[in-house]
Amino acid sequence: MARVLIVGAGGVGQVVAHKCAQVSDVFTDIMLASRTKEKCDKIAKRIREYLNREIETAKVDADKVREMVNLIKSFKPDIVINVALPYQDLPIMDACLETGVDYLDTANYEPRETPRFEYSWQWAYYERFKKANIMALLGSGFDPGVTNVFVAYMKRHYFNKMRFVDIVDCNAGSHGRTFATNFNPEINIREITQKGKFYENGNWVEIEPLSIHRPIFYPEVGERESYLLFHEELESIVKNFPEIERIRFWMTFSEQYLTHLRVIVNLGLHSTEPVDYKGTKVVPVEFLKHLLPDPASLGENYTGKTCIGVQIEGLDKNDKPLKKFIYNVCDHHETYLETGVHAVPYTTGVPAMIGAFLMVAGVWKKPGVYNLEEFDPDPFMEKLNIYGLPWKETSF
Ligand code: NDP
Repeated sequence: MARVLIVGAGGVGQVVAHKCAQVSDVFTDIMLASRTKEKCDKIAKRIREYLNREIETAKVDADKVREMVNLIKSFKPDIVINVALPYQDLPIMDACLETGVDYLDTANYEPRETPRFEYSWQWAYYERFKKANIMALLGSGFDPGVTNVFVAYMKRHYFNKMRFVDIVDCNAGSHGRTFATNFNPEINIREITQKGKFYENGNWVEIEPLSIHRPIFYPEVGERESYLLFHEELESIVKNFPEIERIRFWMTFSEQYLTHLRVIVNLGLHSTEPVDYKGTKVVPVEFLKHLLPDPASLGENYTGKTCIGVQIEGLDKNDKPLKKFIYNVCDHHETYLETGVHAVPYTTGVPAMIGAFLMVAGVWKKPGVYNLEEFDPDPFMEKLNIYGLPWKETSF
C-alpha cells in the first residue's frame, strides 16, 4: 500500500507509470509529474484505456527544489521515482531530504555544462539520508541496475572470486529512422562521445572514444561488433567487489549510427559549450536534441530484440575456473504492445518499478544512499521474471 510520485514523462516514465499501475496492490496511488503536463496526461489516458486505472498528473520543474518540495508535500508519496534527466538528480534528492521521502533513480548525476558522470555527488548525500532515516537507491534501470544485480547474484550463487567482468549491451532492433537515439538524445550523445574507460588491476584506463571494439556473440541475436564505453555501474561495482581484476562495458552500434555520429562530432553538434547565434545563446547538443525524433515515439515500427547481460570469468565455490553469462532478451514489438514504447525504455522502467516495489515493501530498506549490488539480489531476480524481464544463464 504505497503512494508513488514518478517524475519525468518520457519513454522511461511511460513504462514506470504503466508497470506501477499494473501492480495495483502495492502502488495504490500514483502521480506522474513532468515539465510538460500534457505528456503526463497522454500517458494517464493510455493507462486508463489499457489498464482501467486512474493516475494523477501534475506539472513540475524538478530543477527547482521548492517546486518539488511543494509537490511532495501536497501528494505525500512514500517514494519518489526520478526518471527525468540526470541533471535533476540532486534537486530531487534535496527535496526528498527536506520532506523525509525515499528516492530512486536510473541514471547518475552529471552537471549540465560538463559531460562527466560519476557517483561522487550522490554518494556525498549518504550521511544526510541516513540521518533523515530515508533511503536513496541509485541507478535502478537495466544498465546500471539489473547489470549490478546480475553481478551480485553471480557472486552469491556461483563465484568465490570474480576476476574478469564484461557487461555487454546489444540492441539488435530497427526503428526504421535514418538516425535516432533510443533514449534521451542529449544524454545518449554526451555518453557516447566521451572518452572510454575501463578498470584493470586497480587502475582506470582511459581510451579515445569508440577506439576499442570487437565482435561479441549475443544469444538469440548473433554476433555483433561491440564498442568499449565507460558506463556508470563500473564505478560502483568495482567499489563493492574489490576482488574484480578487470571490468569493462561494451555496447553495439550500427554502421549507420556511427557514420551519423562521426558527422555530428565533426560538426561540433555534440558540444555542450553555448554558441552565440544572432544574439541567442544556443547549446549545440540541446539544439540537436530538438531536431531528432523523440525516442518515446520510435516504438510503433520498432522490430527486433535487445540482449543485455554480464559475462564473468573467475573461480567457482570450489576454486575451479568458471565462466558464466547471465542475460535478458527483450523484444521491441512486444514491449510496444504492452506499454506503448520500445524495449530500451521498457528495460529501464521495469527495474525502476521493481526497485521501488522492494523499497516500499521493506525488503530493500536501510537509511542512506546505495547502489543495487549492495542488497540481496534474489528478490529482485525473482521479480524480473514476474514483471517482464526474464533472464537466462549460460556459459560463453
Ligand atoms: P526523455 O527525454 O524521453 O524523458 C525525460 C522526461 O523528463 C521528459 O518528459 C522531460 O520533460 C522531463 N524533464 C526534463 N527536465 C525536467 C525538469 N526540469 N523537470 C521535470 N521534468 C523534466 O528521457 P528518457 O525517458 O529516455 O530517459 C529518462 C532517464 O532514464 C534519463 O535520465 C536516462 O539517462 C535514464 N536511462 C537509464 C537507463 C538505464 O538502463 N539505467 C537507460 C535509458 C535511460 P519534457 O518532455 O518537457 O522535456
